[in-house]
Amino acid sequence: MALNTVVLEEVSLREEVRSLLARLGVEEMLANSSGSVAQSASAELQVHSPITGEVIARLPQPSESAAQEAIEAAHRAFLVWRNVPPPRRGELVRALGEELRSGAAELGRLVTLETGKILSEGLGEVQEMIDICSLAVGLSRQLEGRTIASERADHRMMETWHPLGVVGVISAFNFPVAVWSWNAALALVCGDAVVWKPSEKVPLTALAVQALFLRAAAKVGGVPEGLCAVLLGGPRLGELLVDSPRIALLSATGSTAMGRAVGPRLARRFARALLELGGNNAAIVCPSADLDLTLRAVAFAALGTAGQRCTTLRRLIVQESVYEDLISRLQQVYRSVVVGDPRAAGTLVGPLIDERSFAAMQAALEEARSAGATITGGERVPVAGAGGALRHAARQAGYDAFYVRPALVEVAAQIPVVKRETFAPILYVLKYRELEEAIALHNDVSQGLSSSIFTLNMREAERFLSASGSDCGIANVNIGTSGAEIGGAFGGEKETGGGRESGSDAWKQYMRRATNTINYGTRLPLAQGVSFEIEPAEGGATNGSPKPE
Ligand code: NAD
Repeated sequence: MALNTVVLEEVSLREEVRSLLARLGVEEMLANSSGSVAQSASAELQVHSPITGEVIARLPQPSESAAQEAIEAAHRAFLVWRNVPPPRRGELVRALGEELRSGAAELGRLVTLETGKILSEGLGEVQEMIDICSLAVGLSRQLEGRTIASERADHRMMETWHPLGVVGVISAFNFPVAVWSWNAALALVCGDAVVWKPSEKVPLTALAVQALFLRAAAKVGGVPEGLCAVLLGGPRLGELLVDSPRIALLSATGSTAMGRAVGPRLARRFARALLELGGNNAAIVCPSADLDLTLRAVAFAALGTAGQRCTTLRRLIVQESVYEDLISRLQQVYRSVVVGDPRAAGTLVGPLIDERSFAAMQAALEEARSAGATITGGERVPVAGAGGALRHAARQAGYDAFYVRPALVEVAAQIPVVKRETFAPILYVLKYRELEEAIALHNDVSQGLSSSIFTLNMREAERFLSASGSDCGIANVNIGTSGAEIGGAFGGEKETGGGRESGSDAWKQYMRRATNTINYGTRLPLAQGVSFEIEPAEGGATNGSPKPE
């Protein structure tokens, strides 16, 4: 396989996309659209595949009034759905999981065509959706509340959890479908409705998921119309969700800049916010680390999804005694990793999502270079082969594909560019002497998503996981920063937004809590020993005046 050129297959992406959408039931859904895909068109959305840059679909974007109507319909559906017993709500999610299983190959391939992820990662994303459905089905029979000791005789105190309302989901391009499922599978069993605004860069996979959802709903029966809706378009539609009083919880995944825009708007109307924003993830490599294992883990974490995961490893902090050994081996990996057509077996690094992403990568590398960094890789990889003709046609239309060799960047200190998230395959490498220094470097960024330490020394590992260790929402030992399982709560601290999705007790965010106190006695003792005795008024009525204590 050629290393310095990308050889593209000559297959019409547009034709393949059309066939995948038909197999996933999208054409049928659009033909009989019942309002769950807000369609009353105000503008057209052009969808490009990053594989060639060509336009693979054109879709209508809903008008604002169509979007508002979808939100209203979701609210009406919520009023019905909240009264359906949770295990029955779980049946819908079980059916969704089955649809995802039977459509996994097609949906996984569509993820690849639309995002440029390699096929194994496209399929992995669908597997993640299936896994969260399984978790949510189990949860539907386990939603629970505490009983808490009451200080008053003959009283019982407990918590009950009720459905919350309509959950708005805004998602990023890099996980076009999994993020929706983390939210929707939980929200649906919790009794909520869901309105989703996927990234405008990847609307086709969202349409496919909506078609699978509607198939599941039809099979299960009794699902109120509009329970899950999708709005295809740009930030303006996201803003409608942010500002709508009908949206009780907004789960927004994307850049910290997006979070900064939506956070204050949500706070203004006291809406619940679940923010999953940018990361700047680091790993510390200690002298005792198993370097073979570390090399493999670093390669997946830094190169997977072409460096376009929120959990991508972006900073590697290596103890000086193992620095030369590890970095020279990593340089070899960076020089030889196969950059290419994400559909081809053997490719590990596909294209960047678009030209903006390529420009941001080049600007970051230039900034590092002028600060004295040593850079391996980072250059654009040209496209050749029969598929070059398709790319040529895309270029004629003003679009292009952007393949890059990942960059390994050795820096002497944590200069400003290292502290920013550049959403591209750049791994900054720093050297340390003492673990305290490494942990300080690790935490000295404004993001707080994922982190790792590679060590066989128990004291170092525990120190990293302790209160004075990593300040991230995810902290791992001897595995990389990316590739989390759905059973744990996912999310990060600081400018990553503080949200938690997926497993553990993340479900509680999709419900409202009521504290109930029940008196089953004949007296009325007041909490904290307060006395409030009223005199019976003449004629048996009370005068309501408090008795002095
Ligand atoms: P982005 O911020 O450009 O867009 C994300 C989504 O927000 C899109 O749907 C977009 O239309 C919408 N949006 C943008 N501005 C908005 C506004 N003012 N109001 C309402 N909606 C708005 O992000 P992207 O380029 O699609 O994705 C990459 C970013 O997402 C990276 O920073 C990455 O770290 C982050 N990300 C975070 C997580 C996580 O779980 N923490 C997961 C995936 C991606």
